[in-house]
Amino acid sequence: MIKKFENPLFVTQPSLPKYELYVKIIKRIWDNKWISNNGPIHTEFEKSLKNYLQSNNITLFTNGHLALDIAIRSLNVKGEVITTPFTFVSTAHAISMNGLTPVFCDIKTIDYNIDEDSIESLINEKTTAILPVHVYGRPCNIIKIQELADKYNLKVIYDAAHAFGVQIDGTSIGDFGDISMFSFHATKVFNTIEGGALTYKDDLLKDKFNLLKNFGIKNEDEVSMVGLNAKMSEFQACMGILNLDNINNDIKKLKTLTELYFSNLSKIPGIIFNEIPNNIKYNYAYMPIIVDETKFSITRDELFKRFKEYNIFTRKYFYPLVSDTLAYSHIKSNTPNATYLSNRILCLPIFSDMTLKQVQKVCDIIKFISK
Ligand SMILES: *Cc1c(COP(=O)(O)O)cnc(C)c1O
Repeated sequence: MIKKFENPLFVTQPSLPKYELYVKIIKRIWDNKWISNNGPIHTEFEKSLKNYLQSNNITLFTNGHLALDIAIRSLNVKGEVITTPFTFVSTAHAISMNGLTPVFCDIKTIDYNIDEDSIESLINEKTTAILPVHVYGRPCNIIKIQELADKYNLKVIYDAAHAFGVQIDGTSIGDFGDISMFSFHATKVFNTIEGGALTYKDDLLKDKFNLLKNFGIKNEDEVSMVGLNAKMSEFQACMGILNLDNINNDIKKLKTLTELYFSNLSKIPGIIFNEIPNNIKYNYAYMPIIVDETKFSITRDELFKRFKEYNIFTRKYFYPLVSDTLAYSHIKSNTPNATYLSNRILCLPIFSDMTLKQVQKVCDIIKFISK
């Protein structure tokens, strides 16, 4: 018998800077008497982040969802947008809230991302954009997707909510497509409490984003377009500055934890995981496994329940598929790989403050259950 964890072990735990450092940095907010609306700390954080992500252009937002909504809005796309059902509902909601129709494309079992070879058959005269997700931070086939976009004159917006810090052959993940969205939500590898950002190629979008996130207000006398309120506050920017100082160290710790998971899990029949390709600098933010019930002793759903007996709270990211929710029941789709994975995937606990001992114990429990 293996004893259960004394305290609940959740799939993730937010990275927090030292309490004293946060107290010290927010003193600046009291000194400035400036808590939101493009304050000095916001400006400083935006600059540091631009440097870290090596992007030409970056704009901060109060959360990732509104950033994605505004990204879609800014490109004036109409009609249908091809996306994946294997994602957080935010992706499809951002499309729908703009009066567009999401069209769900199947995914690949090797990296859980949109299947670039299935996109073309979904393109018709109404299609105006592709919105792929770098699921768990693993890059989509950015080359093939751009070729399709060029061939059919489509915009490409990446939901890079999971992909902070990821690089392909040394190029930042945010440098592909027209726009990429990052989320800095508490559950993501890098957080600003709540927060998000867009990185993009076209310099001219900068002014448009600044208008769209602040009610379309151009100056005291002029409102030049319809807009939202999606500004990042000074408190969020403070958290961002401190967490950015720790991100490389956090990712290093996550890599060590992942390696221990991989070496243990590779010995358990029916537990499948996909290795990270060599040309990818990864962020190790998620630890997804596929439970193949024909080779493992129990199903994913049973394993999920058994974990709870040990005080381990895993997550079925992404179940149900977005296309299987009531909100999207009016949209027809045929995505067998997505359905297969959605019923078998389980994300195991991983966060920068997790210990190797905790990872080993989670693995030992899976081994014990598998017998
Ligand atoms: C977290 C997430 C979002 C939304 O980001 P928020 O910052 O929480 O608004 C969008 N898409 C995906 C895939 C996400 O995981």
